[in-house]
Order: sequence, then structure tokens, then C-alpha cells
Amino acid sequence: MTISVIEPHGFCAGVTAALKKALSLAATRRNDSNPQALKPSNPFLYCLHELVHNEIVVEELKKRGFAFVENLAEIPDGATVLFSAHGVAPQIREAAKARGIRVVDATCPFVERVHKAAREFAAKGLRIVVIGHPWHIEVKGIVGEVEEAVVISNVASAREFCAATADTNACLGVVSQTTMNADEVADIVAVLKTRFKVETTAEVCNATKLRQDAVKAFGGDAVLVLGSASSSNTARLCECAPCRAFRAGTMDEVKLLDFSGVTHLGVTSGASTPEEFLKAAVAWLRGERT
Ligand code: SF4
Repeated sequence: MTISVIEPHGFCAGVTAALKKALSLAATRRNDSNPQALKPSNPFLYCLHELVHNEIVVEELKKRGFAFVENLAEIPDGATVLFSAHGVAPQIREAAKARGIRVVDATCPFVERVHKAAREFAAKGLRIVVIGHPWHIEVKGIVGEVEEAVVISNVASAREFCAATADTNACLGVVSQTTMNADEVADIVAVLKTRFKVETTAEVCNATKLRQDAVKAFGGDAVLVLGSASSSNTARLCECAPCRAFRAGTMDEVKLLDFSGVTHLGVTSGASTPEEFLKAAVAWLRGERT
């Protein structure tokens, strides 16, 4: 089996910057004079949600003293919290400020741009549509920017929304989660435009687009996408593959995959997947087993 590494792959600029902030905070912790804080059972560095959706990264940060929480209420007053690359709703920022929680913000600038667009569309009186998955942390943050938003995750839902909305004079302000399938975002916008006036900034971020385009252009007969099951951009890379697609989040998972019949495998990784994992997986697949 021929193994090709698909380029570009792996960490995007947003993830790299978020990790840099996390590691710099962890280094501060080691220098702290408060011995209580050095106990792993009493971490004083918190991250609201996974910094990025990758278990290898999260486990490494836990070792460096981070506690990952899903709710601001789990963080003691006066502690330090890192906001993940996916961004947070303004209500969370206000609540942290009110409780004296020190915030280090790792929100990706591309996500911030989507928040800004949603605010601006709302200020113009447009009805806000967010193209994305309603359960995704990034989408929750965007929705929190406006009083009311409709979340649409696929073309079928876009058609249903068109059919169910009586006011055809409504003007929509459409934004998108940054890690959606680029083609699907364009298709959803096209459906909405058949029925409404639409102002839109809806598109995926450049890193997502480049990684998806590279997978679509791969000419082999199977693609292995390395990344966590919880990673949206990893899942979308699997969807984009023009051939069979496999996914693995750890080396153990790679070793369980059955590549029978595959002659040319392309290997790529999600925007939150460490390069060391890809290198180890490729070496193993090429038979360099120690
Ligand atoms: S995938 Fe895009 S939006 Fe998300 S962190 Fe990376 S660059 Fe930022």
C-alpha cells in the first residue's frame, strides 16, 4: 500500500495560537509561589470547554495543570480561565468579569469575525441564521451574540425553514460555523436565497477550506483522517473524501483499522490534531514498527 501525506493538514493558525497561550499559562503556574495551587487536585488554571477538540492535546494540558470544565459555575472566584479557540457568548464574558475570574482569551480571530458579523446583521434588523451544528460550542457562542437566531445544519433544514416561514419579505443575515463543509454552506445559502433577501458572510475559515480542498483532490482509493470523534473539522474531512474514508483519534485506533484492498492511502489530520500523531501513524503504516 502506498502512503501519501495530504497537504495541508493538521494544526491551523488558530489552534497553534490557542496552544501557545495555554502553554504560556501553564509555565506561569509552575512559577507560582502558592504551594496549594501546585497540587493536581487543586488546579487553579481552568479551560472552559476543551481548548481544541482533540483528546491528545487535552490530556497533555491536564498534565500541565489545566482543569477542563463545561460551566463557568465550576470555576472558583478569582481563578484564571482560558476561553477555548471556539469562542464564548458575551454573557459568559460578563459573568466571568462579575466574579473576578481572570480571563485569557484563546478565541480564534476567524471565530471573532463571525461573532462581529452576527452582531452587525442584528443591529441592521436582519433575522439571524447561523449555519452550523446547534450542539457545537462555536455555534452556541455565536448564537449568544444576538437576541434570536435560527440554526440550520443542512440543506433539508434550510428547505424546511423556507417552507415554514410565511414572511417572504424577511431579510436574513447569514453567518456560518467556521468548520462546516464548505460546499454544504454554499448549498444552504443558495437555498435560502431562493426565498429570502440574504446578506451573508457565511463561509468556512481558510484553514478548513484548504484542508477540505486537498482531500477532495486526492487521487488514491482511501483517505485516513486523524482526529478526534468530537472534532467537527475532522468529521468534515471524512465527508469530503472522494473515496473510502477512515478516521482514527489515537494510535490504538489506527492499529485496529482494516485497509484490505486499499492500494493508495492518503493521510491527513484535522486542524486540532498534533503533528507527532500523524508522523507516528504514517511511520506505523509504512511498516516502520519498533
Ligand atoms: S479551524 Fe479555522 S476558525 Fe477554527 S481555530 Fe482553526 S483557523 Fe480558527
